Amino acid sequence: MEKLKRNKFYIGIDVGATRIKLGLLDSNLKIIKKIELETKNYPTKESLILALKDKISFLKNNFKIKAIGIGVPGLVNPHKGLIYYLVNIPGWKNVYLKKILEGFLNIPVVIDNDVNLMALAELHSGRAKGKKNVICLTLGTGVGGGLILEGKLYRGASFSAGEIGHIPLNEEGPKCNCGGIACLERYVGNRYIVERAKEEIKNKTFPSLIPELIKNDFSKLDPEILSFALKKNDPLAKKIWEETGRKIGIALSGVVNLLNPEMIIIGGGVSGVGKFLFETIRKTIKERAMSVPAKKVKVVSAKLKNNAGIIGAGVLAKEGIR
Ligand SMILES: [Zn+2]
Repeated sequence: MEKLKRNKFYIGIDVGATRIKLGLLDSNLKIIKKIELETKNYPTKESLILALKDKISFLKNNFKIKAIGIGVPGLVNPHKGLIYYLVNIPGWKNVYLKKILEGFLNIPVVIDNDVNLMALAELHSGRAKGKKNVICLTLGTGVGGGLILEGKLYRGASFSAGEIGHIPLNEEGPKCNCGGIACLERYVGNRYIVERAKEEIKNKTFPSLIPELIKNDFSKLDPEILSFALKKNDPLAKKIWEETGRKIGIALSGVVNLLNPEMIIIGGGVSGVGKFLFETIRKTIKERAMSVPAKKVKVVSAKLKNNAGIIGAGVLAKEGIR
């Protein structure tokens, strides 16, 4: 232990709606130790902060920690260490988490949005290594985005840049949680994919084996079932995933025309639909974006997967806000 005390370590923390992951990283940002907590066990802001203090203190007692980076799913002012709000974790409004933790721990704390940190992680040791202009997109309950422009994370005038999920696709359409209308997320967020499939099954627009797979219990319908059905060449599942890929591709065509990235990294999503979804996205970008930037951009899947949040938080802790 004494020897370890002389080395410098970082802590990277990835706060998610389902899990909280803490990682101890060495000076090269290799993960030495990992602690995972279930978010639902900390239903209040106070209990979650207490848990963070507790786990960090444990690591601090055994290792010399130089700085702590934290990624959260929401809007953050990294300069102030202020969390404006978190998506899907209630009770977090205008929390100066940096100040709270630094006051208690006496270690520098840096906080940023989780998808921004995924982008930093991919830039540090993932697919974007050595690249300068890269867009990151995460698919799941929500649809998030992060922008690396000219080798740096681009945060925007009030730190909300990169919300690809909230690019409007139509003038009119369904209302989105963000207050907008017809946002990309409103069509390709997990919940909405399932909703659309449900409707199509009920309207019997296509033949499908899905009702049999879920034994007509629609509460069992989820993206995994739709992915399984796709593998079985189910026409309805194919239609749903094709529409999903097309919507993502159209939104990304706008991004490609605007920013001319060399790479788009897509993370999250549903295992098993990857190849089909990526092909549809690539095809749509080729058809819909301007030809020069469309030819340049590569659409690839994320490399770091489950550890991206911890590594990105480690990069932030080590390099600070740039
Ligand atoms: Zn929206």
